[in-house]
Amino acid sequence: MAVVTIDLEGFTTINDSLGHDVGNALLRETARRLGQAVSGSGGTAARLAGDEFALVLPQLKDLAAVSRAVEQVRDAVIKPFLTHGTELTLAADFGVSVFPRDGDEAQELLRNAEMALHQVKRRPDEHMGFFDAAMSFAVSERLTLERSIKDALRDGHFELFYQPQVRLSDYRLVGAEALIRWRHPELGVIAPDKFVPVAEETGLIVPMGRWVLETACRQMRRWADQGLPNLRIGVNISGRQFRDADLVDTVAAAIAETGIEPDHLDLELTESMLMADGEATLKLLRALAELGVTLSIDDFGTGYSSLAYLKRFPVNTVKIDRAFVRDLDHDEDGRVIANAIISLAHSLSMKTIAEGVETEVQAALLAKHGCDEIQGYMIGRPLPVSEFVSFAKNYDASVRNGGAVGEGAGKPQGVGS
Ligand code: C2E
Ligand code: CA
Ligand code: CA
Repeated sequence: MAVVTIDLEGFTTINDSLGHDVGNALLRETARRLGQAVSGSGGTAARLAGDEFALVLPQLKDLAAVSRAVEQVRDAVIKPFLTHGTELTLAADFGVSVFPRDGDEAQELLRNAEMALHQVKRRPDEHMGFFDAAMSFAVSERLTLERSIKDALRDGHFELFYQPQVRLSDYRLVGAEALIRWRHPELGVIAPDKFVPVAEETGLIVPMGRWVLETACRQMRRWADQGLPNLRIGVNISGRQFRDADLVDTVAAAIAETGIEPDHLDLELTESMLMADGEATLKLLRALAELGVTLSIDDFGTGYSSLAYLKRFPVNTVKIDRAFVRDLDHDEDGRVIANAIISLAHSLSMKTIAEGVETEVQAALLAKHGCDEIQGYMIGRPLPVSEFVSFAKNYDASVRNGGAVGEGAGKPQGVGS
């Protein structure tokens, strides 16, 4: 026996735009079709709420039979509707749990079918999904992670690492990107891809991002006080943070409290964030630029940038994604793309920095194409504060020893690996 939950895609839009009469007619017709589809097999169709329906399909031999039965129901549901002289088509998603494999109580089967439905709705190419025990595990694991992130924020277990950025014309250290790490008491240092996505989903990225901004600005202040060369710090801003109404105030407060020079703070945004909502985005970018901070487009080339937009945005720097840098050594296409991005950026009066530079060959090719700056393991990995400070001091010395002034000079020896 299978329990199936159904979600009618686009129903709310139709209801809102064409009126409740049409909405009600659609619900009645869907109910009729579902009832008809299950009547032959002795199944049950029910309306749970709003546009949510559920079915009980009994006496199915195996999972293949369940799939076939659900497909038949789906065919009936997605047939075009004729109401008030218009033809409407709804898409529908189906979540399935199976008795007794996925539970032996009604509530449990229904809950698991809903969990399966929830997963399907997140996959645009699929319209049916079976419950999988790993799902409930993933959910509980996520909940645990969410709680641990909150605790770690409260207990100060996050830390910023800094990765050096150098200018290609003379290999001077000009900046650093701040990259968050979680120093877990038991698990050691955890990389951001393990927790940033969950922080983003749960909204915890907003307080986390505020902490990153404040910490990076305080760090800059401290370095300036210690007489370190005047470095620019890049801070990553996530999509959720970017849409948060307080972002401009948060950035302004961090600058005011630490008294740093605003143009030494560079905010890294991604293409998808910039392209989302034209006018609102433009206003926000202008407000940020007015604070005096600089703006970069991170992972450039991986999203879909509209050139018309790019031209209007007050963006200072394009960060060429690692993927293109990786292709530089062994691929003519890679070279063409990198070259095109650099030319494009320069023609829009933007600077370029290449990410993920690991080899001298890559650096040389980038220099040849006129790229302004590089960042990557070739120069140095992201480092904890204390190690970054000694790196910066030694690096400066090594550039000087290499004779940074003059023809072809300045390439540091023996740093960064
Ligand atoms: P990203 O902004 O593209 O950061 C660059 C990533 O590339 C970093 O990974 C860095 O360690 C890595 N990388 C740098 N040079 C090289 C290289 O030569 N070769 C290779 N293979 N990798 C290199 P990381 O630190 O693990 O950060 C991953 C992502 O996490 C970042 O990608 C960024 O999207 C996100 N992230 C990190 N810190 C923050 C933060 O404070 N806030 C937000 N919102 N996101 C963050
Ligand atoms: Ca970045
Ligand atoms: Ca990047």
